[in-house]
Amino acid sequence: MVPVYTGTAGRSPFEAAPPDENGFSILLREGRPLATISFPRQPRFYGLQTSDGVPYWKIAVLHGADTLATTVMQTCIRYTDRRTACQFCAIEQSLRAERTIAHKTPAQLAEVARAAVQLDEVQHMVLTTGTPNIIDRGASVLCDSARAIKQAVDIAIQGQCEPPRDAAWFGRMKDAGIDALGMHLEAATQEVRARIMPGKATVPVSRYLEAFAQAVPVFGRGQVSTYILAGLGDSAADILSLSETLIGLGVYPFVVPFVPIGGTPLENHPAPSPEFMRSVLGPLGRMLRAARLRSSDIKAGCGRCGACSSLSGYEAGRDAAEEATRDAA
Ligand code: SF4
Repeated sequence: MVPVYTGTAGRSPFEAAPPDENGFSILLREGRPLATISFPRQPRFYGLQTSDGVPYWKIAVLHGADTLATTVMQTCIRYTDRRTACQFCAIEQSLRAERTIAHKTPAQLAEVARAAVQLDEVQHMVLTTGTPNIIDRGASVLCDSARAIKQAVDIAIQGQCEPPRDAAWFGRMKDAGIDALGMHLEAATQEVRARIMPGKATVPVSRYLEAFAQAVPVFGRGQVSTYILAGLGDSAADILSLSETLIGLGVYPFVVPFVPIGGTPLENHPAPSPEFMRSVLGPLGRMLRAARLRSSDIKAGCGRCGACSSLSGYEAGRDAAEEATRDAA
């Protein structure tokens, strides 16, 4: 996932022309050819629509190369009030731009998932949601969606929501067909969380840790994950210390570089530097290797997709191999 419409991307030394008829393009750095790259082709299911006329791409989209992703409820109780909204979030922006619909029904999701598997060999699916209430926090709508999808097609599903109030929801989500769970902290320290996401930060890190400890026995070690945005103010030590705790619980900390989205309060916030990302992902990759938590073992979801971060390369030790090659040269 390479951002192209952000201020940071505009200043990037990298450039690529649109792909040729075979899907290939040359990546340039400051005008000099660096590598041949290819782009995923437009999925075939994008050309279809439901019987009531909704294009499939408004219901779910391809992420990365083989991940189907959707936001089941495109609204959130926290979004419309700036005092509670997460400053990085654009959940209702795409709704206003009519690039999606507010609530994807279980039947619509099942129809699109079946087509994406059959036509485009999609391997797994991410169901995320805006937070509709502070009781189940979206778990119920995820259950209804997963049940319908699993009846239509055999695909691994990750559900993503805030920690539901009642831990019984974890078992209900598993029974409904959700194979992996994401509960996203977004930032590591309470100071940064309260500043960037004042509403969501009312659910403190300690509550997330409690929910992770309840969810891991249900979904399995490594099948519960969290998404942490690096570059919002947490130090590398803050992120690594929390990651160590998470890994100890059997939770995969998917750390990604923050990407500012146009139209959000953070649109001019700088993206983290490559040096900062290396200072986080290098040690984190080693921690994951030592604990034998592998993104490739995750049945479904962001950690398995991996497109938003180069963490899986560090986890596999590719950074160390590249450094050794550079030193030898
Ligand atoms: S890592 Fe998650 S959010 Fe990023 S492209 Fe993959 S599925 Fe989408």
